[in-house]
Formats: sequence, structure tokens, C-alpha cells
Amino acid sequence: MKNKNLYIQTFGCQMNVHDSEQMAELLSGAGYKLTDNMKLADLIILNTCSIREKAAHKVYSQLGRIGILKEQNPELIIGVGGCLAQHLGTKFHKKVGCLDFVFGTHNIHLLPEIVSSVKKKRKKITEVDFHKALNSISVFAPPQRNAVSAFVTIMQGCNNFCAYCVVPYLRGPEMSRPSDEIIEEIRKLADLGIKEITLLGQNVNSYGKNLNDGSNFTSLIKKIVKISGIRRIRFTTSHPRDLSPELINCFAEEEKLCKHIHLPVQSGSNRVLELMNRGYTVDQYIKKIDHLRKLVPHISITSDVIVGFPGETKKDYQETIDMMEKIRFDSLFSFKYSEREGTAAQKLKGKVDEDEKLRRLEALQMLQNQHTLERNTELEGRIQELLVEGRSRNSENDLMGRTSSWKIVNFKGELDLIGKLMNVKISKAYIHSLRGKLP
Ligand code: SAM
Ligand code: SF4
Repeated sequence: MKNKNLYIQTFGCQMNVHDSEQMAELLSGAGYKLTDNMKLADLIILNTCSIREKAAHKVYSQLGRIGILKEQNPELIIGVGGCLAQHLGTKFHKKVGCLDFVFGTHNIHLLPEIVSSVKKKRKKITEVDFHKALNSISVFAPPQRNAVSAFVTIMQGCNNFCAYCVVPYLRGPEMSRPSDEIIEEIRKLADLGIKEITLLGQNVNSYGKNLNDGSNFTSLIKKIVKISGIRRIRFTTSHPRDLSPELINCFAEEEKLCKHIHLPVQSGSNRVLELMNRGYTVDQYIKKIDHLRKLVPHISITSDVIVGFPGETKKDYQETIDMMEKIRFDSLFSFKYSEREGTAAQKLKGKVDEDEKLRRLEALQMLQNQHTLERNTELEGRIQELLVEGRSRNSENDLMGRTSSWKIVNFKGELDLIGKLMNVKISKAYIHSLRGKLP
């Protein structure tokens, strides 16, 4: 069978990146080989995101360009998956005429079947059924050649219903994977040379709740640390409300657990946090950060913030700025609130003007840049252990590695260091990276 070319473009979060890896693996069994060149593709899949309006817009513009390719090559097959596909279902075909198939967040395992039906029958297909949940996270995607780290999905969906968020509607209820299955997958990855794994879930702290076998996130980590070959463990994302003292202790107890936590706070105003349905106060959040920093003084803390949530006053916004000054995050992902259909926030009064949202966002980002630089500068002159990931993006002659605290370090070194854990001395700090030297 002649190999056909597959082009996958991924929008959005790490879950989507990992879902795309699984799609590529499933379709390799049907004779499709990944290409970086969209123009050479026989099959194009866009793995979409709809967390904010901007993400959805990007998908539509890309589909416009792909439609032109289809006019030139009518045999080209075009599919869309991910959150926007789950949201629109059959409506996607009405909006975008060139699509052959639409598949939802729980239907990835059906891909080979869908593509084969499109080829045979040349009719439009939609698969967005929600009942086959765990099937879609049990595909083993072997890592790419020379990869040193890999993602492992430990749970799907979310039950939190934060007022602004579409995830619970588009990814379904929270469901954890049995721990034996997760451990087996990580063992396989370790045998293939993977040194670092990132455990994925929308709220990893509630791992195990639906399993009824006594497992929880901390007990899962304690099992993973025993797997030989795995040197580093990361996870994303944890919800501040569910960050348990046991998990906080784990950072101090388990050497392999990287000293970084992404803990999205969303706002520094208790009033806004309540409107958002987040389930914690600013004080409770800060107490958890203090506890983390007391046990692991150099732990790096990153977060997400939304500005311009409906009803956010200038005072609420100022409280977010005050909280940032107090905590001094290592880095922050910040977003303008984007109204999403069907969410509770859509019905809230007090919508903030777009220009005002932009002003708030820009001022907040300027402050964060100062904090990031300050936090990074604290590392100058210090020895840091890196896992060397590959060549640097900045220069052909440099290598790039990450510290346990998730910071990028560029340094001069030989290619055979890739995949190794090694010490470098930090010589210079920037906002987005650090410069290091072999001692
Ligand atoms: N489950 C994770 C959590 O609770 O932190 C992350 C979910 S989401 C994919 C990533 C981030 O997108 C959120 O933390 C939030 O800051 C942002 N986000 C989600 N919905 C949004 C919206 N409607 N407008 C703006 N930002 C949004
Ligand atoms: Fe969305 Fe909240 Fe669930 Fe995160 S915890 S995915 S923000 S509903």
C-alpha cells in the first residue's frame, strides 16, 4: 500500500497536542504518514480549540486557505476535530462547505473508520457522540524519534463549570483512567527512552474520584516515581480549590516531581472569583502558595488570569494587580474575557468594553514581565539541573534544556547531550529564557 500524506494542525492546549499525536498514530495504521507541508497532504485534519473566540477565528481562516487547496485537488480529504468540532457538530458542514468529516472530543478512536468511509462513499460524516468516553484516551502514541519528554492523559473532561468556560460542555464529565493503564503506558514510554512525562487532565487533583478503588492523584504520583528510566514528572492543570496538603508535601518528598506548579488563579477579587464559580478565596489561594514556598523555597509558580470578566470593576482589577504584587508569579498566561455560548457568564450583566479589557490586559502583562524578569534574575550565578531537549530555537549552535522549574535555558554544548540531565550555571536572565554555561 502506497503511503499517503497526513497534515495535522493543532490549535489550543497541551491536551489537543496530545490528542493530535494519538490521531497521527491511529492513522499511521491506515497508511498515513505525517507531513509538515500542507500542500503535499492527501488528508488534512484541524484539531480545533474554542476556549476563546480568537481560537475559533483562527480555525475559520485556516479552513478558508484549505478550501482553495481542495478546489485544486478534489481528492483531498478534510476533517475537523477538537472542541470547536464538538461544539458545532453537523453545523460545521453548513458553515464550511469543503469539509468531509467532523469528529468530536470523544471520537478520536473512530478516525480510521471515518476516513475509510469518506473515501468509499464520498459523503459527509459527523461523529460527535459523547458516550464512548474513555476509548479516546487509550491510544498509545509512541514518541517521536529523539523525544525526551511525553504527555500522558490521566483523565478527561471536567465537572467544575467555571462560569466562563466551555470545557465541561465540550469535553464531557470528569473521568479518570485506571492507574494500571497509566503505569503501563509510562513504562512503555520509559522503555522507548522517555525521561520526562507530563500528566494531563483539566483538574488533575480530582484524579481517581470516579474510580472507586481508593486511588487519588498523590497515590498515582507515588506509583509513577518508582518507574525506572523516568527522571522527571510534571502535571497540568491543577485547580487551586482541590490542591491537597498531601500533594503539596509530595513536592518536598519526591525528587522526581518537578519543582513547578501551574495553578490558575483567574482573578484577585473574591467577588469576581465567586461570580466565576471558582470555589476559593484569594486568601485561601495565597495560603496554599505560602505552604508550597515554605516546603520548597525555589518552587516556580505560574498561573492564568482573565481580565474583564462581566462585572469586573476597576477596584476588582486593582485587587488582581495587588495579588500579583504579593505573589510574584514566575510567569502568567493572561487573557481578555471572551464570551462563550451556553456558559453561565454569558447571562451576567456588566460586560466590560473591549478597549477597557485591552488596557487592563496590557498593564497587567507589563507588570508580569517585570516579575518574570525579577524571578529569572534570582537564578543568575546559580547551578541548575537541565533536561536537554534539543537544539535551541534561537541558534543552530546552541542547545536548549529546561530546569525543573520549567524555565528554558540556552547554552553551548555538543549534540550528544540531548536527552541527558546535566548541570549548567546560569549566566544571564531574560524574560522568556535564561542563558547558561557548562561548569
Ligand atoms: N482546567 C484548567 C483550569 O481550570 O485552570 C484550564 C482550562 S482552560 C483550557 C485554560 C485557561 O483559559 C483558563 O485557565 C482560563 O484562564 C482561560 N479561559 C477559559 N475560558 C475562557 C474565556 N471564556 N475567556 C477567557 N479566557 C478563558
Ligand atoms: Fe474550565 Fe474551570 Fe474546568 Fe478549568 S476547571 S476546564 S476553567 S471549567
